[in-house]
Amino acid sequence: MLFRSTRGDSDELRAAQAIIRGIAPDRGLYVPEEIPEMPFSLKDMEEASYQELAKKVIGAFFTDYTEEKLDSCVTGAYDEKFDTEEIAPLVKAGDAWFLELYHGKTAAFKDMALSILPRLLTAAVKKEHDDDKICILTATSGDTGKAALEGFADVPGTEITVFYPDSGVSEVQERQMVTQTGANTHVFAIRGNFDDAQTGVKNTFQDEAVAAELKKHGIRFSSANSINIGRLVPQVVYYIWAYLQMVRQGAIKNGDKINIVVPTGNFGNILAAYYAKQMGLPVSMLVCASNKNKVLTDFFRTGVYDMDREFYLTNSPSMDILISSNLERLLWHLSGGDSEDIKTLMADLDGARRYEVSDRIKAGLGQFYGGFADVEATNKTIGDMYRENGYLIDTHTAVGYKVYEDYRKETGDETPAVIASTASPYKFAASVARSIGLDEQPDGFAYIREVAEKTGVKVPEGLRDLDKKEIRHTGVIDTDEIKTTVLELFAK
Ligand SMILES: *Cc1c(COP(=O)(O)O)cnc(C)c1O
Repeated sequence: MLFRSTRGDSDELRAAQAIIRGIAPDRGLYVPEEIPEMPFSLKDMEEASYQELAKKVIGAFFTDYTEEKLDSCVTGAYDEKFDTEEIAPLVKAGDAWFLELYHGKTAAFKDMALSILPRLLTAAVKKEHDDDKICILTATSGDTGKAALEGFADVPGTEITVFYPDSGVSEVQERQMVTQTGANTHVFAIRGNFDDAQTGVKNTFQDEAVAAELKKHGIRFSSANSINIGRLVPQVVYYIWAYLQMVRQGAIKNGDKINIVVPTGNFGNILAAYYAKQMGLPVSMLVCASNKNKVLTDFFRTGVYDMDREFYLTNSPSMDILISSNLERLLWHLSGGDSEDIKTLMADLDGARRYEVSDRIKAGLGQFYGGFADVEATNKTIGDMYRENGYLIDTHTAVGYKVYEDYRKETGDETPAVIASTASPYKFAASVARSIGLDEQPDGFAYIREVAEKTGVKVPEGLRDLDKKEIRHTGVIDTDEIKTTVLELFAK
């Protein structure tokens, strides 16, 4: 299996090479030339463990990794770091099945991919006989940063640097990052929002002078953002896993269709669901749920992507995004691999801040439904879910569930649905506490304790006593200082 850039200018690469590069030199994203079929029948996998399934699914994409290598990557990633043997349990509540993707170390779904990416990457570096040290640069809307820091902390041959928007992550998210241990970890707040941070990091990545300077010091950039194909592919696994669990729980028969609902920001997680569908998983509708930053809702309804609009800070900060990077991959697939078309669209986005897709791409958008929920609807959904079902969901997951309810009302489609549950409710404890009617607390940490006391739901290990941990990172910079910061760190 070879990978090529969505914008067509770069060579075809093996998976290992694409994972090392992260983003293509022409600024495109690496895509598999063809999405492979599932290399097994679902029937044969009904008893498989998460790890067994992961090896087969990832192996179908990353054919240049040996079986032994993949085995060690998978078993090393999905182990006791997760607080349940199922890795991603499926829980029925209300009208849907919640795929809990937050049982890893940082209590958000980013752990699913970022616990394996460092292994895939260091294996790739060894395989390609590349002696360079890898420097990971990551912009985060809150959850990727911590998951990447945990994944890469003290991994030999790597440095990890995270930039987060100083206004736009929760107090708990921020504290998780600035207390990170590990000699190779670096964390900076950026004055700006997530899109500013992401653009700043992308520009640094593309800067040839910076790359040349780092090269002199034996360092090369890579990315842990969901633009890295090494992050996307491991996410495909859990949608197939969800399906198999629905069969096991008797919710569906093997072969029946399901719908998948994903609270969406950068479009990585829902793209993984699309890949699962393309591999042959019986999926009917892909529901793309946004918060008030509903650029994707409008896109799926009109075929016009228009980011020239007001940006809102919401209580689902990991979805406060106007540039959904991974959408470019979907457009490439739906265009039939027409890189010229994609290049034009992305140039329009850079220039006019909007683009309208071709009829060919529009024809493929019908397998997606776009909807959004504002802050009030999100909070009401959390409260209703807890009162009616005793089940606690976070703000992002609540956006997903609310949009799903709207979808059912609008269409009458009763196909059993899986909701990607992307974060522990404790990660956004203040909003969750208010939504279920608990008293005001002095800070985010007190909210965690209050929710635990009143609901009895267990606090994830990584969020316990966060306010007692030592703060180790205090840098605050402007976006145009990212480059000099990186050079100061690694090219002294
Ligand atoms: C990152 C994140 C999302 C958005 O996922 P994308 O892959 O960027 O679309 C949703 N919810 C939570 C909790 C997240 O951390």
